Amino acid sequence: MKHILVIGGGIIGLISAILLKNQQYEVTLIEQNEKLGGLLQSSIASDGLFFDYGTHIPRETGVKELDTILFESLNKNEWNMYDYLKVGNYFEGKLNIDSQFIDVTRMDSDVFVKGLFDLLHTTPIEDSVNDADIYLEQYFGETFKREIFAPILEKLYGKKLCELHKNAHKLFGYTRIICGDQFLSSNFKKSSFFDDKLANTNNKIGISGLKSYYPKKAGIYKFVEELEILAVRTGVNIMKNKTINSMELDERMVKEVVLSDGLNLQCDYLIWTIPPSFLINKIDVDHQGAIPQFRSVGLFNFEFDTPFLVDNHYIYCNESIYKTFRITLYSNLVSSVQSSPYTCTVEILGDLDEIQLISPESVVAELLSMKIISSKAKVLFNKNTIIKNGFPIMTNNHYDNAHEIEETIHKKIENIIMLGKNSNKSFFMEDSLRDAYEILKKKDLI
Ligand SMILES: Cc1cc2nc3c(=O)[nH]c(=O)nc-3n(C[C@H](O)[C@H](O)[C@H](O)COP(=O)(O)OP(=O)(O)OC[C@H]3O[C@@H](n4cnc5c(N)ncnc54)[C@H](O)[C@@H]3O)c2cc1C
Repeated sequence: MKHILVIGGGIIGLISAILLKNQQYEVTLIEQNEKLGGLLQSSIASDGLFFDYGTHIPRETGVKELDTILFESLNKNEWNMYDYLKVGNYFEGKLNIDSQFIDVTRMDSDVFVKGLFDLLHTTPIEDSVNDADIYLEQYFGETFKREIFAPILEKLYGKKLCELHKNAHKLFGYTRIICGDQFLSSNFKKSSFFDDKLANTNNKIGISGLKSYYPKKAGIYKFVEELEILAVRTGVNIMKNKTINSMELDERMVKEVVLSDGLNLQCDYLIWTIPPSFLINKIDVDHQGAIPQFRSVGLFNFEFDTPFLVDNHYIYCNESIYKTFRITLYSNLVSSVQSSPYTCTVEILGDLDEIQLISPESVVAELLSMKIISSKAKVLFNKNTIIKNGFPIMTNNHYDNAHEIEETIHKKIENIIMLGKNSNKSFFMEDSLRDAYEILKKKDLI
């Protein structure tokens, strides 16, 4: 029986291991920490008081085999299932609780009219475009690019549009705008050209049919616990607190790996879900190219003594002068009727030293100004953490750099497949899961 080693026990390693085990391979999953889940973690501050590592609300992928593994074994009494998520956004001094998309009608009327004029005069994107400055100008028109996307993307990435990849805005879902009421939007959306650029005015309209899930009583780590039980039941051999020390190569094939505790494992295939830089150091390759860079994320966790003023599951802050990127409101996720504890996490992107200087008080002031908490709300608990390598900085050579690293590794090793967020092919869970599935299928492993 072929032995496949999966390195990294995040969601992608875990699901890949189950998919492969279902094909009767011998599968060993190796995780350096004592807990699986990678970025899908919840910290427990006290009984019933939990905070996740950012917004992690799993949604069906639309791939039957994946969705069966991900969601079928969940005890539905313990999980909330949502047809759509209540996502809001704050822009131009106003909270829009009905949509994640920016409503340009809230802008100064001069800017709005000029922006709309530019938008209506856009033409299909030219093939030669490869930076965000030109792409967004051709996609949304010069005014909206300058007034909306340039400041927001600079806040999130710390880079000018001309330094960013043409798809940089897509990472944060800035693919559409609202530029009128639903009647107007529906009419414009009849044209496929404008359908791509314009959003409906409410999350409820045009839902995909894919369900999202969140535990009724705990944080997202419960999802990992359930998947770990499934992996063990399926027969995946899980090894925690271990990593790879070295590997034995025969021609271009990894035949054996030696773990940190000295254990030797035979290997026919290596599924790599951890940063490639770790591998480059192990296999002695000369890689001179650039390595994809990541933005740090500050997670500011709060418990308040009073309910939130909104019932959103999460809210994006599109105000470029505010530090907040996104707020996840757990009290609205675990139950449709808010009950204590009233907890949320505010995510802030920035350079590490920049984030270290941000005070919890200034974050609370932004929540207050956005009218997410009342002026009477008192903080009962707060704690912040920083994820050093959070969101990828999508510079215009981001994918080229990632591709070059993968090529370099493949020149040295044939029987390796790089998957997940760390492979830099995709970032979000759902995309990374679908990509992993497609790649394993293409390689005829599943
Ligand atoms: C702040 C933040 C917010 C996010 N919000 C969302 C969101 O709203 N929606 C969404 O879909 N996605 C979101 N994501 C992305 C999501 O977290 C990732 O898509 C997903 O977690 C990637 O899983 P992974 O298995 O590829 O990688 P990871 O979760 O990074 O897992 C990699 C695993 O490998 C292990 N490992 C590392 N080095 C070694 C080693 N040397 N040996 C052994 N094991 C090792 C790690 O400990 C970890 O367990 C967010 C990410 C961040 C940072």
